[in-house]
Amino acid sequence: MLKASIADSGSDCMFCQEPKNELPSWGTLLPLFPPSLLCNNCENQLKAIAGPSCAICSRPQPVNEVCEDCKRWESDPDLQGILDHNRSLYRYNNIMQEMIAQWKYRGDAALALIFRENIRKLYLHHYTGYIPVPIPLSSKRLIERGFNQSQLLADFTNEPLAFYEKWQLLTRKSSPVPAVLPLLERTIHEEKQSKKSRRERLLAKENPFQLSSAFKFSVNSKNFILLDDIYTTGTTLRKAAKRLKEHGAKSVCAITLARG
Ligand SMILES: [Zn+2]
Ligand SMILES: [Zn+2]
Repeated sequence: MLKASIADSGSDCMFCQEPKNELPSWGTLLPLFPPSLLCNNCENQLKAIAGPSCAICSRPQPVNEVCEDCKRWESDPDLQGILDHNRSLYRYNNIMQEMIAQWKYRGDAALALIFRENIRKLYLHHYTGYIPVPIPLSSKRLIERGFNQSQLLADFTNEPLAFYEKWQLLTRKSSPVPAVLPLLERTIHEEKQSKKSRRERLLAKENPFQLSSAFKFSVNSKNFILLDDIYTTGTTLRKAAKRLKEHGAKSVCAITLARG
């Protein structure tokens, strides 16, 4: 039984459930990591992406230049400039993999709150005025999982903390009422990505996304920010971005938790 509460700063670490200690850590000194829901041990294992990285996908690398993967994307005339850029908060290291696994695959929806503060800061700092767009799950996957992790991240851009305090007290295992309406919907149920080779994923030409029929406003000339948990190959984000650009979006950027 997990007992962590946002309001209770003396509570246990939300991830490992060990008592949090109050000693200052790198985490509390760096602006990317405000006093968090994690113990120092877990917090210090999260590695923010800082320093040189790819200007398009934020892959950490020795120099600030476009990485080889992004050069390949940009050399495809159909996809050139489709995704303006992606900013990832963290490296996809062991603890990040474990956190995402517990969050997504073991159904602990409220673990998303660990990342709320930094997602929100990143959004407010760089993308105020951009329309947040969660990457939709197929209805089959949504039923399996009980919540859409991208929807939770998108909701963090404009829902007050008090809302989540109530939500967390009520249930950790399902989504709150969405704060951000889903602009895209997924029409094709794809096999889990891990079952496909990278090449198969890159070659899969069909675009599973379409504009939601519930959405009436024009996408034309507006700026959008996609939200998702991991940037791996960038295929999913580019497919979503392609749909928005086809409808006249001015720019489409992405915020992801981790750069895989
Ligand atoms: Zn911990
Ligand atoms: Zn790149």
